[in-house]
Amino acid sequence: MKYVYSFSKKHVEGDRGMKELLGGKGANLAEMATLGLPVPPGFTCSTEACDAYYKVGKAKLSAAMKPEIDAALEQLEEVTGKTFGKGPNPLLLSVRSGAAVSMPGMMDTVLNLGLTPTTIKALIASSGDERFVLDSYRRFIQMFGNVVMGVDHHDFEHELDAVKKARRAKLDTDLTVDGLKDVIDRYLKVYKRATGKPFPTSPKEQLMAGIDAVFGSWNNPRAIRYRELNDIRGLLGTAVNVQTMVFGNSGPDSATGVAFTRDPSTGEHKYFYGEYLINAQGEDVVAGIRTPQQITLKGSREWAKSQGVSETDRKANYPSLEESMPKAFQELDRIRVRLEKHYKDMQDLEFTIENGELFILQTRNGKRTAQAAVKIATDLVKEKRIPEREAVLRIDPASLDQLLHPVFVKASEDAAQQIAIGLPASPGAATGQVVFTADEAEAWVAKGKQVILCRTETSPEDIGGMDAAAGVLTSRGGMTSHAAVVARQMGTCCVAGVADVNINYKTKRFTCGGVTVKEGDWISLNGSTGAVYKGQIETVEPGLTGPFGTIMKLADKYRKLGVRTNADTPHDTATAVKFGAEGIGLCRTEHMFFEGDRIVSFRRLILVAETVKKLREDCGIEDLTALQKAVGKDVKAVESIKQYKQALRELLPLQRKDFVGIFKALKGRPATIRLLDPPLHEFLPQDAAGQKEMAETMGVKPSEIKRLVESLHEFNPMLGHRGCRLGMTYPDVTAMQTRAVCEAAAAVKGSKPEIMIPLVGNVKELANQKEIVKRTIAEVEAKKGVKLSILIGTMIEVPRAAVTAGEIAEEAEFFSFGTNDLTQMGCGFSRDDAGKFLKDYVAMGIYEKDPFQVLDQAGVGKLVEMATVNGRKARKDLKVGICGEHGGEPSSVAFCHKVGLDYVSCSPYRVPIARLAAAQAAIRS
Ligand code: ADP
Ligand code: MG
Ligand code: MG
Repeated sequence: MKYVYSFSKKHVEGDRGMKELLGGKGANLAEMATLGLPVPPGFTCSTEACDAYYKVGKAKLSAAMKPEIDAALEQLEEVTGKTFGKGPNPLLLSVRSGAAVSMPGMMDTVLNLGLTPTTIKALIASSGDERFVLDSYRRFIQMFGNVVMGVDHHDFEHELDAVKKARRAKLDTDLTVDGLKDVIDRYLKVYKRATGKPFPTSPKEQLMAGIDAVFGSWNNPRAIRYRELNDIRGLLGTAVNVQTMVFGNSGPDSATGVAFTRDPSTGEHKYFYGEYLINAQGEDVVAGIRTPQQITLKGSREWAKSQGVSETDRKANYPSLEESMPKAFQELDRIRVRLEKHYKDMQDLEFTIENGELFILQTRNGKRTAQAAVKIATDLVKEKRIPEREAVLRIDPASLDQLLHPVFVKASEDAAQQIAIGLPASPGAATGQVVFTADEAEAWVAKGKQVILCRTETSPEDIGGMDAAAGVLTSRGGMTSHAAVVARQMGTCCVAGVADVNINYKTKRFTCGGVTVKEGDWISLNGSTGAVYKGQIETVEPGLTGPFGTIMKLADKYRKLGVRTNADTPHDTATAVKFGAEGIGLCRTEHMFFEGDRIVSFRRLILVAETVKKLREDCGIEDLTALQKAVGKDVKAVESIKQYKQALRELLPLQRKDFVGIFKALKGRPATIRLLDPPLHEFLPQDAAGQKEMAETMGVKPSEIKRLVESLHEFNPMLGHRGCRLGMTYPDVTAMQTRAVCEAAAAVKGSKPEIMIPLVGNVKELANQKEIVKRTIAEVEAKKGVKLSILIGTMIEVPRAAVTAGEIAEEAEFFSFGTNDLTQMGCGFSRDDAGKFLKDYVAMGIYEKDPFQVLDQAGVGKLVEMATVNGRKARKDLKVGICGEHGGEPSSVAFCHKVGLDYVSCSPYRVPIARLAAAQAAIRS
């Protein structure tokens, strides 16, 4: 196996396409060498070598790789005219890590390798600059000690500070030759004390140990954590780049710096963005040891203005590179243009100037904010550098979240005190005063306050408060908990499952570690990271700026999938339409029962429904008026029927009004309306106060209500009396809801309702409900003298429905995959309880991702695919969509494209994400 690949002007063995093997840094160094750019020559030990390091062990790898390294070194000596470890012109090397995916600052680098008493002498003689050589040596001892031998950084820093203090040197550069000698003596002692060995004086030994250490750093805790956090998997390891040193620390006409070809935070292209330091090396610029200077004069003047630095002060102490080293600057500026043209993307460069001569040490596609990504991609299309499709592919769909929600001003967030971290359940930034109940949230907001609603968990009753609040914090629950799902849909910032927070509703306070937060105290939430802060943090509202709109238009041009939204209110609907939703894919009618007095009417209905059902069965009479007559003098029975009729009468106009609002907001776009779905007990008053209130409105004893509530108790409500099972046993609810939809449709011209029957597992359930729906449509049509065209379909969320989709499609005009429940029932994971072990499951690799967040394509996805195929076999024009949380998750959207669904439906704030993900899937396929 070949482990070592050279790069130099004479001989290049790699190119930019070889990232997997040479790492990003190595591949790009090779590419730049081929382009003829001034890259110090060197060689790369491949990621396969790193893999071998872990598989066969470092001794065996070293033995196998040594001859290749020796050969590469010899070549390097030839190209540079220098010799490693000996001779009048000694070769010094850097040993740099570099994986296929950039992991900035995660693994380690050693500079100035090859310095020994012999080479130090030679280098002093050849450079005539003892100070520079000693400065390089002290850096080398520190880096080698730290990176290779694990000596604590601070042990060195401590000595450096001591010498600086004793010699009244403010900056490193103020240290004289004597000072540096003192530092070196102390460093060598620190090294010996910590390792028990003297500092190595064999350059080859230094090199092999350096390479081993970089391979070893692939699995240091920092690097592992970084890969976890950024979901980087499947890499062989890191490559090691061994490169000829160039010295930015060799005097006043030397420098080192980093630069971006465009502004990485805004994407602007006004000037060349970057910073440099004179007489410095390596990480000095980012380490903050001195104030870095700007590359361009324009940038320098802007910087000075923002820092309150006068023009004279700026010119004297912080001149731009353009001013201080104009020749090197000109060349760097030419290379900037060249690299951008070549890579067709914004580049992040590292450069060093040695005695006036420029060298490029690294280039890569620069990391950027979502705002910058969108701006850069659309600008590159305008500049005719990349085609439209490429621009669409360049944007990470998930990152669009950053553009839709308010965000913290970074400096304010950095300065804030973080008190806990939870799940980043719904993105955005929120700052407000703590309240503990939904009612209070609404009341405080009505008084013009800004609040954060803190609950152990939320329930459907809390939606008013959640909507009013700037943010929601829950101490329990996962990414698909009620709080998370509802908050995302509303676009309310939410941090869920903050386990460290202990809420005490009685005392109106929560504790978190040592911190106590009372009602009315200010806290701040970062819904994109899960961070919880004490106090207020300044936020900014990002506008839907030009480039964002441009990207969305391009996405629409290329996507094949439709994108709808999950919305229950006119407000959410309008938001989603603004974000480009083409209709509603899921309108959950149950939320409409919670607002204000409606809950009372609905409770009334539920509480007597069972009695009415029994009366019907006993008398064999369906019609309520006839039934009421038949029971005659049974006062209790008559009262129940009256209450039942009253509830239906009260609910009908309220539902109708909701639908009218939604249809108006849709302006002719279709809306899939799902009939009542959740278990009834969610609606019932479980506490004494609520039961008493209900008893008063219904004119019965509280004990009677208590009995009724208890009789409706279920051990496993999610698998209980819910979904179409309610419509099966209480057909009046189905009829009332259908009537409300039809009457609203008749009232709003151009509305396109579709009625969806939830939780069907057997085609007979659907047939039964469809019958009621059709009959009701016909009744309204007759009464209003209109013709309504309303599709009737079903949600596919019970595995049995997916398996028998062929039969179900005989009755259904459309399918909508409810993948939340389909995952729950398909994998057998309770949505409410799986949070306890799913994280471990993902860590153990049983599931690659949380199947509630990312569609489990191999399992649940199979059900989706099979049901789609079989459904369409039975009904050619069957419309198929998805309305689970997965409808807004990019990889799941790509799956939906592949399977050939007609549309995905997601919460309003995910509509742009789905549009972009759908376009990317279409372009890639
Ligand atoms: P990272 O991946 O953390 O950026 P690098 O390997 O790029 O680490 O190197 C760390 C620092 O050392 C960078 O500032 C880089 O420019 C500098 N450096 C690396 N190799 C050389 C070299 N051969 N000559 C001079 N400076 C170098
Ligand atoms: Mg670097
Ligand atoms: Mg469901």
